[in-house]
Amino acid sequence: MKRVETTCGYCGCGCGIYVNVADDDTILGITPSYNHVVSKGKLCSKGWHGYAFVRDSRRLTSPLIRQDDGTFREATWDEALEKVASGFKDAMIDEDNTERIGIISSARCTNEENYLMTKMARAGLKTSSIDHCARL
Ligand code: SF4
Repeated sequence: MKRVETTCGYCGCGCGIYVNVADDDTILGITPSYNHVVSKGKLCSKGWHGYAFVRDSRRLTSPLIRQDDGTFREATWDEALEKVASGFKDAMIDEDNTERIGIISSARCTNEENYLMTKMARAGLKTSSIDHCARL
């Protein structure tokens, strides 16, 4: 077994955890980081037990693109990112795109990731329509 030090991804608190991983890469459980500056050895129930999603069969493993008939097909990351960038370019028509482009970030991101999302929205996409769902 190996212990992988990382940050809990369930909310923006950013508690320090070790993921205990078997030799076949199966996750065996979570152990708190006892000297982590945020969590100091404590985790909520999501931090202790919320790792089943990693191997959930319903989890998407590749991007999907909606086709004209409404169905989805698998795509490469390059193709999906190109489609997203193209959609943003089409929607950006002036210096204030607040009415056309809105960004929904996530409470599961770290504070730093949400800060970057704000920068991308305001500086890159020229929109001040940004929110996130801090309701886990
Ligand atoms: S979900 Fe719980 S353990 Fe995970 S970062 Fe948030 S408070 Fe910490």
